[in-house]
Amino acid sequence: MPSDMEKEIESLREAIRRHDHRYYVLNDPEVSDREYDRLMARLSDLEAAHPEFASPDSPTCRVGGAPTKEFPSVTHATPMLSLSNSYSTDELMEFEKRIRNALPDEPVEYVAELKFDGIAVSLVYEAGRFVRGATRGDGERGDDITENLKTVRSIPLRLFSGSGLPADVEARGEVYIPRAGFEKMNREQEKLDEKLFANPRNAAGGTLKLQDPKAVARRPLQFTAYSLISGVPAGTQLDRLHILRELGLPVSRHSALCKSMWEVVEFCGSWEERRDSLAFEIDGVVVKVNSISQQERLGVTARSPRWAVAYKFKARQAATVLRRIHFQVGRTGAITPVAELAPVSLAGSTISRATLHNEEEIRRKDIREGDTVLIEKGGDVIPKIASVVLAKRLPDSRPFEMPADCPVCGSPVSRTEDEVAVRCENVACPAQVLRRITHFASRGAMDIDGLGDAVVRLLLENRLVSDFGDLYAMKREKLAALDRMGEKSAANLLAAVDKSKQRTLDRVLFSLGIRHVGENVASLLADRFGSMDAVAAASPEALAAVEGVGPVIADSVTKFFSQKGNRRVVEKLKSAGVRMEQERKKPSESGVFQGRIFVLTGTLQGFTREEATRRIEAEGGVVTGSVSRNTDFVLAGAEPGSKYRKALDLGIEIMDEDTFVGRLEKAKRRKPQAGGQLKIGL
Ligand code: NAD
Repeated sequence: MPSDMEKEIESLREAIRRHDHRYYVLNDPEVSDREYDRLMARLSDLEAAHPEFASPDSPTCRVGGAPTKEFPSVTHATPMLSLSNSYSTDELMEFEKRIRNALPDEPVEYVAELKFDGIAVSLVYEAGRFVRGATRGDGERGDDITENLKTVRSIPLRLFSGSGLPADVEARGEVYIPRAGFEKMNREQEKLDEKLFANPRNAAGGTLKLQDPKAVARRPLQFTAYSLISGVPAGTQLDRLHILRELGLPVSRHSALCKSMWEVVEFCGSWEERRDSLAFEIDGVVVKVNSISQQERLGVTARSPRWAVAYKFKARQAATVLRRIHFQVGRTGAITPVAELAPVSLAGSTISRATLHNEEEIRRKDIREGDTVLIEKGGDVIPKIASVVLAKRLPDSRPFEMPADCPVCGSPVSRTEDEVAVRCENVACPAQVLRRITHFASRGAMDIDGLGDAVVRLLLENRLVSDFGDLYAMKREKLAALDRMGEKSAANLLAAVDKSKQRTLDRVLFSLGIRHVGENVASLLADRFGSMDAVAAASPEALAAVEGVGPVIADSVTKFFSQKGNRRVVEKLKSAGVRMEQERKKPSESGVFQGRIFVLTGTLQGFTREEATRRIEAEGGVVTGSVSRNTDFVLAGAEPGSKYRKALDLGIEIMDEDTFVGRLEKAKRRKPQAGGQLKIGL
């Protein structure tokens, strides 16, 4: 009868073999790397404590992976090993202790290198020519992927030659995909309706397995060399990196010689912090004994060299169960699906929610409630779902669907054609009222002290307000009578509300929560138009003509002010005395064409179209492409086209070139006006 211990060891081995297959062969892991490493560490510990159950075919004694059937296999002259892992300073110190024990009384130096998160390959050069490239496979035998590797531009097909430089060498390194290339590649996969890659390493692995080198050539693969296996005398790892570089192979600039393990620890810490500053992903630091003769004396195990160790950064990927998808209604009505996860620890924090972005993303990844998913923290802080572990899908799972009605107010949702977002357009939707008011009161907006989420809820629950316009009409007695409020807080809140009337126009505009109008755009609009009325009355063309404001924003502003309900709320602000005007700041304020909309047609004698446009804009005017009722002037040169006729039809003033020049000259003579409110006659 096998003992419990033996059973556990065997089941760990089986699980690891299964994960190896999914990871290395199918390119579709179902557990996170950290979970895999945990299983491996547990197995190593148990095997060390119970040598009686040791077995040469245990995953701890061999390199994960295997040659595939799709490529001819190659036997490596020197085995391609994996690396043992360490996760803490203590473990690095233990590594050093083992080295010291094996090499007593010898000074030992280390080289710390970035651990590129890609796929290890071997490149064989004969007489300076690239003759064979292979994957690591099971360490003994890998896939011959020479043709695929030839398409990687950073792999030289001929090495540089020079005195003392070897010509018959085997170089090893990592094929990887930089982050930007990975994003682009996934966007292309998306267009082709192909499965998305979970991360750059996965993408590099998948690419190297393609059978068509032309397809490989289209993928943004890069190479970096980190080891020179043959063709040179012993020396040091650092010398070898130098030779690799001289041979014309790309070598990372970030490797460092460390005289002590403390220097190594510092290197690891500083790169763990800065990893996102790199254009590619690294998952740790590889620490190697620098002297090759010391490396040789330390030797290797069946799986990894004793002279090197990988310091792995904190995991950024974890597997967990997606319990439920719920829907959040944003301040502007956008309905976003959010994943509720079984809490899991990731990169130092506990994660229980992940954003799902939008419906399309969910459909593409086919994410369903009840799925086991791999979540990942990338360069940004918000975790995302990288992929679904299909093998663990529940038999009764159902494809995801967006709700037809707003989950908060029940009104039917709408979807704009060019937008992926689904929205609730009901302005009275309670979900939006709460957020609209908290946004209104927030720091960058009206900055009303003491009007946070909880207080707004209180005001809404007690029907003291139903939109932010009502804030200015709140009565002290009613406020003070509220639970959890009291005289003092009520007085403070009212004072804060009152003070907010002095906020500048840009902030008032921003506080309205108009879709696409952030602080920056609000300030552009306020500067350019000078009053809320002018912004509200501006045509989409005039809005879009403001630098930094395009047609999408313009459309959104126009829509906002076209809604009666919104205009009513703005009116409440106005009658409460909230500031609705400001000095217009642009130097072009004094321009003779201030706020006027021009359309150009025909050929001008003294100006190109660009010059004429520049001159009009310098005088505060706007040039648009088509004639509408909002057009003020059509500037017509020789042989004007259909715009001219349309202007006549609509009774729009036609300006000839002489008049135009005359106006410009008059402008030049005019003294620039200082400040002041300019009325816009649009
Ligand atoms: P590894 O990736 O942890 O480390 C060895 C590899 O590091 C080398 O083969 C080489 O490719 C790479 N490397 C990068 N920079 C290097 C440098 N400067 N010098 C030397 N090597 C460098 O080991 P591995 O054997 O390739 O993979 C094991 C790891 O893969 C596991 O620890 C786990 O994270 C992951 N894995 C995950 C699953 C899963 O199911 N999630 C399954 C198998 C393996």
